[in-house]
Amino acid sequence: MTGRQPGFLSSVATVARTELRELLRQPGLYIFIPLILVQVLGNSLLAVGAFDTPVLLTPGTSAVQIANQVILLVLLLLLFYTVESLERERTTGLSQILYATPCRTAAFLAGKAVANSVVALVVLAASLVASWIALLVQHTVPFSFAPYALIWGLLLIPTFLFWTAFVTAIYAAVGNRYASYGIALSALIYTGFRTLTREISWAGNWPLWGRALRWSDLGFFETDRLALVLNRVMVLGGAVFFVALAVKLFERRGADAVRTIHRLAPRTLGAAALRLGGFALVPLAAWTVLVFQVTNGLEGGVFKKETKDYWAKNLKTWLDAPLPDIARVDVAVTVDPKRHALRSAGTFTLVNGLDSTLAQIPLTGGLDWNHLKWTMDGKAYEPEDRKHLFVFTPERPLAKGDSVVIGWKWDGFLPRGITKNGGNTDEFVLPSGVVLTGFEPSFLPVIGFMEGVGETKDNKTEARKYPRDYWKGITRAGYGATAWFPARVAITGPAEYTLNGPGVCTRNTVKGGLRTQVWETDHPIKILNIVCGKWKTKQGHGTTIYYDPAHPYNVEEMSSTLDAARHWYSEWFLPYPWRELKLSEFPALAGYAQGFGTNITFSENMGFLTKNDAKTDATFLVTAHEAAHQWWGNILTPANGPNGDFLSEGMAHFSTLLLFEKVKGARGRMEFAKGIESRYGDRRRVDDERPMYDIDGKRESDETVMYDRGGWVFWMLYDFMGHDRALAGLQRFIRTWSESRDHPALQDFVASMRPYARDPVAYDAFVKEWFEDRAMPEYRVTGAKKEKRAQGYDVTLTVRNTGTGRMPVEIAATSGERWAKPSKEPSYRESREGIVLGAGESKALTIHCSFSPDKVVVDPDVRVLQLNRKQATVSL
Ligand SMILES: [Zn+2]
Repeated sequence: MTGRQPGFLSSVATVARTELRELLRQPGLYIFIPLILVQVLGNSLLAVGAFDTPVLLTPGTSAVQIANQVILLVLLLLLFYTVESLERERTTGLSQILYATPCRTAAFLAGKAVANSVVALVVLAASLVASWIALLVQHTVPFSFAPYALIWGLLLIPTFLFWTAFVTAIYAAVGNRYASYGIALSALIYTGFRTLTREISWAGNWPLWGRALRWSDLGFFETDRLALVLNRVMVLGGAVFFVALAVKLFERRGADAVRTIHRLAPRTLGAAALRLGGFALVPLAAWTVLVFQVTNGLEGGVFKKETKDYWAKNLKTWLDAPLPDIARVDVAVTVDPKRHALRSAGTFTLVNGLDSTLAQIPLTGGLDWNHLKWTMDGKAYEPEDRKHLFVFTPERPLAKGDSVVIGWKWDGFLPRGITKNGGNTDEFVLPSGVVLTGFEPSFLPVIGFMEGVGETKDNKTEARKYPRDYWKGITRAGYGATAWFPARVAITGPAEYTLNGPGVCTRNTVKGGLRTQVWETDHPIKILNIVCGKWKTKQGHGTTIYYDPAHPYNVEEMSSTLDAARHWYSEWFLPYPWRELKLSEFPALAGYAQGFGTNITFSENMGFLTKNDAKTDATFLVTAHEAAHQWWGNILTPANGPNGDFLSEGMAHFSTLLLFEKVKGARGRMEFAKGIESRYGDRRRVDDERPMYDIDGKRESDETVMYDRGGWVFWMLYDFMGHDRALAGLQRFIRTWSESRDHPALQDFVASMRPYARDPVAYDAFVKEWFEDRAMPEYRVTGAKKEKRAQGYDVTLTVRNTGTGRMPVEIAATSGERWAKPSKEPSYRESREGIVLGAGESKALTIHCSFSPDKVVVDPDVRVLQLNRKQATVSL
């Protein structure tokens, strides 16, 4: 009689069925799943974007957003179930029979793996349900299954297979439950640690943690597609290797003594190692290529070395070297998104605007400009190449007013490689869009030495110390050109793209599948940029929004906000000097927005995907803020030094406050003001905060001071001076400084506004408290009670300023809901008293009411920046 071995697949199925039954009997799953659901739901619904505004989820962004957590949870569950199910066989003593033949061992392990992967599927299904609910709750973007299948299915399943195989191999090697847990958890913690410290790269990131999964609705992993594919090949290959290893080790464990000795014979051992080595080839090859790609990539060692060389070679000679002004720019750029390639040819006309003569002109070029050719005054020229700082020496030094024309021609790729682990790609030529700016030598040379390039943690000079009066005399611009210049930018690209540049489009032609758009500045400009995409457009009054057809949700609101911003900022600050104002969307390979003159760029997750609610109109907020940079940042460029950025970021928030009040009414302004006030309260470092005059952006908490406190203090100054006087002052300030070779700091602003103050002494006191010192009021109400009088009620209370800053503030006794829905009967009533409280002062007061009040509110109109505003309201 002969016994027939059961087939491999039917063995797998039998083992899987048994395992599954066992699995479902364990309580773990039933405890974990609801937890995962809550966690995922909470995380996706509470996600915030720019200025802490809530974001609108799309299937892709939500799949990526929760991927890190889902991966961790699944890995932990898989570890537990894999070890426990292997352990079960050993303790029940069946192992000797089961581990008998290689085929049986493989079928047995595969069966277990199949059963355990059901755990992963259940977690993914629960997460999918949670995401579906989250999208349903937001009620805007429709649900679609594809991104989840792509990210969780295609990309994450290899991670789970790899992990299960790895854990099984460990168990096979050590044959002990606790040792297996210890080793596997150590590996997991090590990977997590490398991720958190941002040391991990595509070569080591087997779980795909950190920012590796960077989603854009506009294109699928365009910068890092190669890395992603290689990484998944490596992980899948690793899974196969560990399966083979596990089978081998189990076989040995099950074998008897004689066979073991036979197996340990050198020749057999060598053959086994060779076979296993074969399995290791694929993952090792993928790993090697990845290490090479990362090293040569955007954040790799080669790039770091080149920029460090640039820094070391030029810092001492060229930092602060005198520079010419740009008199004119002519450039033709050709983009080839499919190949990630671009070409640039153009000229700078440079003029010496300084009082001294100028012998040499340094231009910073890109690191990977190929076939680079320079010209000077129309003739071929070889500048001195100082590690990508190109130094031009005209035949005769340039006297004041003399000019020289420098031309260039080159081609290259952007990005010129992969990221380290899915980091930002700020500028790129990719199928989903093109973003090029004058901040970097990405499509034009940058004039002068670029401070900060090549600096690293251990390769850095001491931060520059500025005296408080650094702003006196001529101060350089914080960014962009010193003087306005005209420009002509011709952009050529595939016909299906819109190619946006600065100024107005004077030509738009298609030939041979290629579109060329020529842009000319109808009013001079200070910095150039290019943004291209396959967009739909929304026309406004002198404004156009260029958006991806997949993101129509906020376009109406963005368009009307841009119109309002253009109209009112023109009226309040300075008439908008250009004819057209464009706002274009780019893929979320980086999450910023930038307000170049006439050509604003927004990452898809800013504005286009912000979520609005009754209280905060986040779309309005980000659009109003970025539009304000046309004036505060472009038309007026702040000084390069401490506190300069208040005049761009603080002023942009101030403009937003004004526009909220104008367009959305008092409540809109008050809600936004409260929002940035509490953000400032949360984020500031009380013991570390410096006066506004000394903020240089070097400390982490400087940001909230610059934006939130800055916006607030400018608004309070406006409120204190009164609308007409404040705007007259602002108009003179922006006009004077937008034309000056000198660039303003906060002190220049304060001096410029002073003549418009009704009471200069009070003005100086305000400036002293808020700009020079660190005034921060905080109000408390104590002993508030109401008493019935013959006519109405009297409320008595004491208010104390437990903070600093001497500001007039109103106290209101109120009844009813101030911002009740229009459908409801208006029931709000109030009565107010004004007081002035300095630091630590308190005052008792009585408020007469003709009604029965139920609340006392300090600063009901949100006019004084303060800490813990919520605690300055008491119920009666
Ligand atoms: Zn800004």
